Amino acid sequence: MPQQFTPCWPGECRAAISLTFDDGMPSQLARAVPMLNEADLQASFYLVMRGADYLEKLAPWREVAKAGHEIGSHTVGHICSHAFRDNPAAKGLENMTLDDIEKDLVEAKSRLRQLVPDQKEMSFCYPCYMEHVGRGPTRQSYVPVVARHHIAGRGKGEFPFANHPATVDLHYAWSWPAERMPGSQMVGLVEACVAGNRWGILTFHGIQEGHLSVAESDLRELVNYLKVNHGRVWTAPVAKVARRILDWRAANGI
Ligand SMILES: [Zn+2]
Repeated sequence: MPQQFTPCWPGECRAAISLTFDDGMPSQLARAVPMLNEADLQASFYLVMRGADYLEKLAPWREVAKAGHEIGSHTVGHICSHAFRDNPAAKGLENMTLDDIEKDLVEAKSRLRQLVPDQKEMSFCYPCYMEHVGRGPTRQSYVPVVARHHIAGRGKGEFPFANHPATVDLHYAWSWPAERMPGSQMVGLVEACVAGNRWGILTFHGIQEGHLSVAESDLRELVNYLKVNHGRVWTAPVAKVARRILDWRAANGI
């Protein structure tokens, strides 16, 4: 069946790769952004739009957007499961409603619009990869809420499976957490995408910093590989790949 489709990726590219960075950590500004700019590769950076002083705090990211990177939403409150806590009254997805989530998403998007007004489309990143509210019999997915407000949502998938443009749920696209991952393994995942004409997404947090860190040398190995292979691997932000998939689906009647 896939043979009857036109190729999805630009030029001679046989795979799409999105590098995604969560939580707006300082090492991303200090290490990842200069490395990517030097290689002329663009990524997605997901910011938490927390606090009254968010515009001031997040001002450095305006320059990042100007260099062609996507600044995406990672909510205002970064609410995850309260199973991380030991207090049943602690705020968490289990004691929130879809309306609560929607309020947060709408506010985060409006703050992002103020931060990067020239950016047309922006994707969403699920805090802690979690897409539910409630628990047990009342648990519900908030993917439809994300679908109302964003072109795409980035979740988490399983190794070694990547997204196919014909079948990916753009509002819960799979990604691979890349913390502590050697550069050679990242390159292997890219090549698996090439073999299957797929869209692979890697998720980073700290670069040699804080939680869920990856070594700068491993990220550099991947970035150098993507730079050298730019004629066969299309590296682009999530919103840009999602837009291309939507256009490709329309042209192919999917
Ligand atoms: Zn996060």
